[in-house]
Amino acid sequence: MPKIKILDQNMINMIAAGEVIERPASVLKELLENSIDAGSTKITVIIEQGGKTLISVTDDGQGMDSEDLKNAFVPHATSKLSNPDDLANIQTMGFRGEALASIAAVSQLKATSRTADSIQAHSLEIDAGQTVSFSPAAAPVGTTIEVRNLFYKLPARAKFLKSHNTEFTHISATFTRIALANPNLDLTLIHNNKEVHRLMANQPIRARVAELISAQIAAELIELSGSERNMDYFALIGHPQSSRSSADYQYTFLNGRFIRDKFITHALKESYRGLTEPNKHPVAFLFLTMPPESFDVNVHPTKIEVRFDNSNMIHSQVLGILREKLLSMNLDAKAQLPSAPAPALADQPPADPRDRKEQITQAMAEFFKNSRSSQHTFEYNRAAPSANSECVIQNSKQVPVGAPSIRPDYTVSPLADIPRSTVTPPAREAFCGPFVQLHDSYIVAQSADGFVIIDQHALHERLIYEELTRRLAAGPLESQRLLIPEPIDLTAAQLNIIESAREFFEKLGIKLEPFGAKTYIIQSFPVILSKLSPAPFVHDALDLLASQGSKLDPQRLLHEILDMAACKAAIKAGQKLTAPEIQSLLEDKETVDRASRCPHGRPTSITFSLTDLEKQFKRT
Ligand code: ADP
Ligand code: MG
Repeated sequence: MPKIKILDQNMINMIAAGEVIERPASVLKELLENSIDAGSTKITVIIEQGGKTLISVTDDGQGMDSEDLKNAFVPHATSKLSNPDDLANIQTMGFRGEALASIAAVSQLKATSRTADSIQAHSLEIDAGQTVSFSPAAAPVGTTIEVRNLFYKLPARAKFLKSHNTEFTHISATFTRIALANPNLDLTLIHNNKEVHRLMANQPIRARVAELISAQIAAELIELSGSERNMDYFALIGHPQSSRSSADYQYTFLNGRFIRDKFITHALKESYRGLTEPNKHPVAFLFLTMPPESFDVNVHPTKIEVRFDNSNMIHSQVLGILREKLLSMNLDAKAQLPSAPAPALADQPPADPRDRKEQITQAMAEFFKNSRSSQHTFEYNRAAPSANSECVIQNSKQVPVGAPSIRPDYTVSPLADIPRSTVTPPAREAFCGPFVQLHDSYIVAQSADGFVIIDQHALHERLIYEELTRRLAAGPLESQRLLIPEPIDLTAAQLNIIESAREFFEKLGIKLEPFGAKTYIIQSFPVILSKLSPAPFVHDALDLLASQGSKLDPQRLLHEILDMAACKAAIKAGQKLTAPEIQSLLEDKETVDRASRCPHGRPTSITFSLTDLEKQFKRT
């Protein structure tokens, strides 16, 4: 007896439904995309019980006549493709002709639709793939699709659905993506008879972010837009300070479609490197428009992934655009002042300009007292330093106090000879007035519209890091022969990697030669790091290479090593500085991009505007 049976169409549809319809949110996505393709301007979504009992979408689009309404539920029925060339030039959200047939196979569905040139609507009811009724109906132009009791005949699938709340979270995420991609649409979302979102047509995207995601995120977004080769872009990206511990706040839209792309995600992460802590994810809303023939959307049933003709180019374009914008901005962290409780009237004498200086001084003293005892005054948290993100091993030789700036020590080519970033330098803070060093760790300087508090170690570390990177971009670091070569004894792990690491060290201006079974000698050391003791530095660098070498890409590894060098060479917290030293540190801050953050992404300085202070003192 033959065992093979050709499945009937309904079975085929049920199986196909598994690919596109995973949960109520996937139904919503398909229905919304159809409404968008039908040219709708207003769409209302009604959900009950997280979408498990009802997902209803009503649009005012072009509608379907009675013939089309019947055909729409036949598998592979689509009005969006007519010949194979169309596949390479997809302008609509849908094109596979699968969604309606799949949804109808696994639910109880009612579709009502009317075109503009018809005086009446038609209504079609399908129960688990079987047509139950088809009749004229009364309805305005457009389409309503109601999907009830998803998977009710497929207990095995229904079992995988989560709680109403969780399913509604997915619904809401789908709605958010569609709403951000289509700001021209008037959109309403109702859940269990409650209006969750009502979005007016043509709202700015920032306003939609505020409504759908977070008002605070929306307020801090940095906007950029332009054209690059064959790509138009509009982006709203988060201030590094507002980076999150999950990548959930990253949205990429390509020609109005929400996509996930590992090249774009990577470019995004790279563009914030050094500006945000390594375990944080920037917030970003990227809207890209490209000719449809330059990528393929037909690689994934839900079309969430695309294949670019040239992914590397997209990567470098996105990286370039974002990086340039971030580097051209003043990203100094802004003080997040708690709003001061309104003092009783009697406590608040009339404003007297003579008091102001005193009040400011007192506020600063207060600030330091608080920030020493707790870091909660700021929105960001200083991450616990990881083994290689702070100096763990003290130098045997301390950096002499007499030279906080790396500038006076230049013995090689002056800065001007070294290729610098082509990016327009950010608007710099001009410092004026006297500088104060507090607790031998922080510098307070007056700026044009307020004052700045600088973490001396973090800033100096960034300055040295940038200088090292700039010099390395021009070739190996200039090195100097040691008068007395320094021997280093290596551990087994270090011995294991030292040969492959020698070239790496040579780029840094460090020459190593074997000297006996377990010993190497350091012949030369970079001029720019002449203040460091060579042996401990090489030891630590080898440890880092031995422990991280296989895990990190070479770029990242170099970053770690430069970071370590900068950290070791930088002036320390708790180190007293003279006025000229402070001055030279502040001057250097003005010449360096990204001076607002240390190489680990923590702020080097926090600005306080007079307006902030005036608010605190209730002067506004
Ligand atoms: P696809 O969107 O890939 O074409 P679907 O199964 O989602 O496939 O839809 C089948 C067809 O039904 C569409 O091509 C379109 O012609 C029609 N259709 C679906 N939804 C709507 C709607 N809301 N308004 C007008 N026509 C629709
Ligand atoms: Mg569709």
